[in-house]
Amino acid sequence: MKQVLPPGMSAAQMDRALKAIARVVGDDWVLATDLDRDTYLDHFAVDEAAHAAAAAVAPLTAEQVVEVVKLANTHKLPLWPISRGKNFGYGGAAPRLKGSVVLDLSRMKKIEFDAANGVALVEPGVGFYDLYDYIQQNKLPYWTSVPGNSWGSVLGNALDRGVGYTTYGEHTAKLCGMEVVMPTGELLRTGMGAMKDSPTWNLYRYGFGPSWEQMFVQSNYGVVTKAGVWLMPAPEAMIGLDLEMENVDDLGWCVDIVAGMRRDGLLQQSPSIGSWLRGAAVLTSRKEWYDKPGALPDDVIAAIRKRFNIGWWSISLRLYGYASINEAAATLIQSQFARHTRQPMTITRWNQGTPLNPAPGQAAFAGVPITFPLANAAWHGGRGGHIGYSPVLPANGAAAMEQFRRTYDRYREFGMDYHGSFAMNERSITNVNQVLFNKDDKDMMGRVNGFFRALVKDASDKRYGEYRTHIDYMDLVASTYDFNNNSLRRANEAIKDALDPNGILAPGKSGIWPKRYRDQRA
Ligand code: ADP
Repeated sequence: MKQVLPPGMSAAQMDRALKAIARVVGDDWVLATDLDRDTYLDHFAVDEAAHAAAAAVAPLTAEQVVEVVKLANTHKLPLWPISRGKNFGYGGAAPRLKGSVVLDLSRMKKIEFDAANGVALVEPGVGFYDLYDYIQQNKLPYWTSVPGNSWGSVLGNALDRGVGYTTYGEHTAKLCGMEVVMPTGELLRTGMGAMKDSPTWNLYRYGFGPSWEQMFVQSNYGVVTKAGVWLMPAPEAMIGLDLEMENVDDLGWCVDIVAGMRRDGLLQQSPSIGSWLRGAAVLTSRKEWYDKPGALPDDVIAAIRKRFNIGWWSISLRLYGYASINEAAATLIQSQFARHTRQPMTITRWNQGTPLNPAPGQAAFAGVPITFPLANAAWHGGRGGHIGYSPVLPANGAAAMEQFRRTYDRYREFGMDYHGSFAMNERSITNVNQVLFNKDDKDMMGRVNGFFRALVKDASDKRYGEYRTHIDYMDLVASTYDFNNNSLRRANEAIKDALDPNGILAPGKSGIWPKRYRDQRA
């Protein structure tokens, strides 16, 4: 990728800025060759060049981050912070604003572990594999919670509200105590960390006065250089309850009963009810079954499901903790399901001291990092990719069925294969849909944008908003949050201008544009 520049900046100005930064991070850590720039492209994006970075810079310490951010202010250089940049489906390592310089924090890999309290204080470069290995090597009695793509960063994932499989799967909720470089270069610590050397920085979330932690999540108000992450004590036992459901309509009752279990606390983990393609896309590819364009016909779907023994929907519930409590909960859960289906649940049991089931689909429930779900990008063949469409719904079966039908019809209308799931939160559902595509299929790629926009409009007509979106659609999604003529966005941007007067940090992230670049809003 040849160098691109941010709006209003010349090549000479960029060169001066990068040279100044090289004096802080070292020449080796200013990454500005064509190959470097390729590396930071979002290979899943429909139009990769639209989000090309000018370069990347990779500091090693928080002190270096402070200096880089100060220099970015001096040179009016837009920076895009990433932790490990594996945010596939939402932009990967690529910046929202073309020509930004990626602030790559992946070299910052320190872990400090408070074994008494089960808290890891991690830097941005710590990946799920790193933390898992650290725990294993030090024989610590804790489990990580990992996402489907565990290649990423513990902190980066939590900062974009990524999720995992265990009771600690709402990763952003498990952050406690952050160290942040503000857009002006000032270093601060949130909560109890505002008191120097406080032993409760990573134990009590709020501190004194306003609590700012979520302010640094899905925002562009600071570069997080460290954060406390709470980990689940290794449980005495785990029970798995897996069910393959035969019928499309099973989604409705399943959502209703699981919503009840989440509300009353019988189930502490957030299971996700996934359509058949979630299972199939990592086991086979489309061309083995069908060679025509357009959505797959029902008889082909039936044949694939039969071959792999996959329900139209599947769900995996997990119970963690004391064996006797798990057993009682499992009995109650099974009896609730038995009222709706004769299909038995597959029950698996694990007790401390015995080996974990190494099957990749099982390991993630025990906090073992996985990457096999990434294989779904290969479903269509060619250079695969996907983007996520993820509206939040109320936790009830009728709403889920209605949303499913609407979305399913859209997939078929645009000739795409439906890949949806309904993750059951405590009071809501995150309806994560993958739009899988083949980047070498010009016709298919030509349909993606219209399809995605139709999906967002369908959701917003029902007053559902996305919880997260690809960099291409951040402005679109932000515009659907329209109460009082988008007053929240105005407040976000007023805060942005106050904290980041030069507009250097992640312009456009989550639809928040600083004054300097506000004309770039799509
Ligand atoms: P992962 O590698 O875990 O997928 P990323 O590094 O891609 O995570 O981060 C996801 C998004 O979160 C980034 O695009 C960026 O907007 C934001 N982000 C990541 N790390 C930081 C950080 N340390 N400070 C501020 N924002 C961050």
